[in-house]
Amino acid sequence: MPVSPVQSPAELLSGSAETGHGIEQVSLSAIATEYGTPCYVYSKAALLAAWHEFRDALAPLSPLLCFAVKANPNLAILNLLAGEGAGFDIVSGGELARVIAAGGDPAKTVFSGVGKSHHEMVQALQAGVHCFNVESPAELHRLNAVALNAGMRAPVSFRVNPDVDARTHPYIATGLKESKFGVAWEQAIALYETADRLPGLAVRGIDCHIGSQITELDPFAQALDRLLELAEALIQRGISVDHLDLGGGIGIRYRDETPPAMNDYAAVLIGRLQGRREKLLLEPGRRIVGNAGLLLARVEYTKTAGAREFALIDAAMNDLMRPALYQAWHEVRSVHNEGTPRRFDLAGPVCESGDILARDRDLALKEGSLIAFLSAGAYGSSMSSNYNTRPRPAEVLVDGTRTHLIRRRQQLEDLWKEEQIPSAG
Ligand SMILES: *Cc1c(COP(=O)(O)O)cnc(C)c1O
Repeated sequence: MPVSPVQSPAELLSGSAETGHGIEQVSLSAIATEYGTPCYVYSKAALLAAWHEFRDALAPLSPLLCFAVKANPNLAILNLLAGEGAGFDIVSGGELARVIAAGGDPAKTVFSGVGKSHHEMVQALQAGVHCFNVESPAELHRLNAVALNAGMRAPVSFRVNPDVDARTHPYIATGLKESKFGVAWEQAIALYETADRLPGLAVRGIDCHIGSQITELDPFAQALDRLLELAEALIQRGISVDHLDLGGGIGIRYRDETPPAMNDYAAVLIGRLQGRREKLLLEPGRRIVGNAGLLLARVEYTKTAGAREFALIDAAMNDLMRPALYQAWHEVRSVHNEGTPRRFDLAGPVCESGDILARDRDLALKEGSLIAFLSAGAYGSSMSSNYNTRPRPAEVLVDGTRTHLIRRRQQLEDLWKEEQIPSAG
C-alpha cells in the first residue's frame, strides 16, 4: 500500500504483471469484473500520502491549502480532503455547490476564474467564501455592485499577472502578459487603490496562478518575489493584505520529468515568507491527485495498418482528453503480461483521428487484455465528456482491501434526459 506519495507513475500499482497488477490490496481484474471498463480507479492511501506530504512540508508557514476542485471534483475525493482540513479553489458556482455537497467549508474556499457571472457572485457571497480572486476591472465593479445590493462586503484579491514564464505547455501557461488570465502587473496598484475605496469590497489578498504542470522552482520563486514586491508597494500606500495566494501548478512525473521535491518547493516559500504577517494560500490540484489514480481499460481488438499495429480499446478521448488536447503522455501498463511485447498505438472508438491515447508502446497484450493509463487522477475524469454518446466511466476508490464505487457508470438514458422532441403541430 503506498504510504509515501507516488513519485513515479508505476508506483501506484501493487503486485506484478506476472500475477496481475492491483491498487493497494485489490486486483485490477477484480475491479474490472465488478465495475466494468473503462473505469477510473484511485488509491485512498496514495491520495492522502500526497496531501500529507504537501501539508507537512509547508507546516512551518501554517498555510491555507485550497485543493483545486477542477483537477478532480468527485464528491468522495472532496469529502476526504475536507476531512483533512482542506480548503478549496473553485472556478464556478457549480464547483461551489459541489464543495458544499461534499461537506467542504465555504469559509476556506477561494473563488477564481475570469468570467464569474452575476448569479455566481451572489451565490458565493451568500455562501460566505473566503475570497474572490478578481481578474479584471469590470469584474471588480460588478462585484462591488452585487455586494452593495446584498448589503455585504465582498472579500477580494486581485489575480495579478506577474509575467513569469512557467515553461510549460502553452495551453496551461497562464502567467504571461498576453494571457486572458489575471490583471496586468502595471495596473495592479491602481486597482488596489480603487478596490480599497469601493464600499462593497474588502481588500484581503494578492493572488496569482502562473500555470500548471510546472517542473522547475524558478517560476514560483519569481512569482512570489513579485507578489512580495506588490505587497510592499501597497503597504507604502496604506493598504495591507492578509494573505498571499501563490496558486497551484506544481507538476508531477508523467514520464521522465523531474518536478520539484515538496521540501525544495516548500524551502523556496518558507525562505521568503517566514516571519511575515500575511498568511500563505496555495491552490494545488494535480500534485495531490494526479498520480493517485489510473484509467482502467480493456482491449477490444488488435489491428494492423501498414507498418503500425493498433490496439483498439474501450476508453477514448472523451474519457481521457489530455492526450488529444495537450499531446500529453500517460504511461501505459498491461495489467497482466500476455505474451511477448509488441509495439502498439492505443486508439479509442471515437470517430476522430485524434482519438489516440498513446503511441508506440511496447506492451504484451491481446484481445480482452486489461491496460492501465497511469497518472490519470487529475484532469482525467473531470475533463471527460459524452462525445459520441459515450457514458462517462465509473469511478472507484480503493481503501486497503475494500473498494467503494464513488461514481456509477452513466446509464444511456442519463445522456438524453434533458432533451426533448417537439410535439407535432
Ligand atoms: C487549475 C488551477 C489551479 C490548480 O492547478 P494545478 O496545476 O492542478 O495545481 C489552481 N488555481 C487556479 C486559479 C487554477 O485555474
